Amino acid sequence: MAVQWLLVCHGLVTLLVVVSFLCGQWPIFQGTFIQRIHNFLTFGAFDYFRRFVEFVFGSRGSNALYLAQYYCCDRPNPILQVSSYAMYLAIVGGTYYLIVYSIFNYIPGHYIGGYHRYTSLLAVSVGILLFLLTSFSDPGTINPENVSKYLSVYPYDNIIYSEKECSTCKILKPARSKHCSICDRCVARFDHHCGWMNNCIGEKNTLYFVMFLLWHFFLCVYGTVAIGLVLAGRLKELEVVYILTAYYGIEDSFRSLAPHVVQWLLGSYNTQILLMVFLAIVSLLLSGFFGYHASLCLSNTTTNEVKEAKASAEALKASLGDLSQERKPPESKWKSFFRRSHLEDVEIVKNNIYDRGFFQNLYEIIYPLSSRPSFSTHNNKLKTG
Ligand SMILES: [Zn+2]
Ligand SMILES: [Zn+2]
Repeated sequence: MAVQWLLVCHGLVTLLVVVSFLCGQWPIFQGTFIQRIHNFLTFGAFDYFRRFVEFVFGSRGSNALYLAQYYCCDRPNPILQVSSYAMYLAIVGGTYYLIVYSIFNYIPGHYIGGYHRYTSLLAVSVGILLFLLTSFSDPGTINPENVSKYLSVYPYDNIIYSEKECSTCKILKPARSKHCSICDRCVARFDHHCGWMNNCIGEKNTLYFVMFLLWHFFLCVYGTVAIGLVLAGRLKELEVVYILTAYYGIEDSFRSLAPHVVQWLLGSYNTQILLMVFLAIVSLLLSGFFGYHASLCLSNTTTNEVKEAKASAEALKASLGDLSQERKPPESKWKSFFRRSHLEDVEIVKNNIYDRGFFQNLYEIIYPLSSRPSFSTHNNKLKTG
């Protein structure tokens, strides 16, 4: 019984943290507790702590805290790194532990082979490996030695990117790069800084990041299907349908049997069913994140470029709105939620000169431009073509 409660708490807390952290800013969650958890996780917890320190120690205390925050949080820090890794390992390890504890007794089963005890461990290990690869790989750090290479590989589009110097690194900013204030470095083909990975996602590790999302999606689907097969096997092994029809006289049809079978499963295997539902929900979330990033990759657009294009579109709309003095009633949050389409995000970056077609874009993710020996000839071709 204790395990079931542990599972319920683990599942609910994980789901709440993941959804709040990643989607808390969406319009649909405005004013809800999901948004409040998001604010708390992103900056609120620290703010409350700062106010408490200021209350107890005065302004000197809060100044010291700001200084500590600068050294601990605004630059890559081993403590922050360890806590983000611990969180990932706790979620994956906790879920796998519960699967081993509640499912492995029934493997091998009628519909599932004994080898799944080993393939599941292998699948989880690959997931952890992809996490480590994304976290520890170089996202494409720009330094005085390699800046000329990046400048020649990525031409300026003069829409989002024009020739500029990074005020911190004091080197020219190649197109598509951005200075990450957390890592304190310029990153080529900057996508975003990932708090979970504690690393930037850029030119050289976008492939690992997308593979990480895809693999974890498959991992959750694998878990959901495997638990389903275990439960179906238990139904068969215990001859539940036979008992229900022969002893209880229930009609042998799907419609009359289904409620009884579901009731029996919920009564006998609630831990396993909860695990299955949890994995199914997480796989849905992951499929959304993977789909979004895959569509960006295939159109050779970065999250950062979508953000930039949106900001300039908003600014244009605001200036046009000022001119016409026309005020539209605010859109309902349901309407704006359903309007939020990933395709819209991809299409928002107009005249994307880096989009060179489906296969070339995919190849660029697998084999980054700056890693190719023929980068200068490629660039000449881009200029003339
Ligand atoms: Zn910089
Ligand atoms: Zn970063």
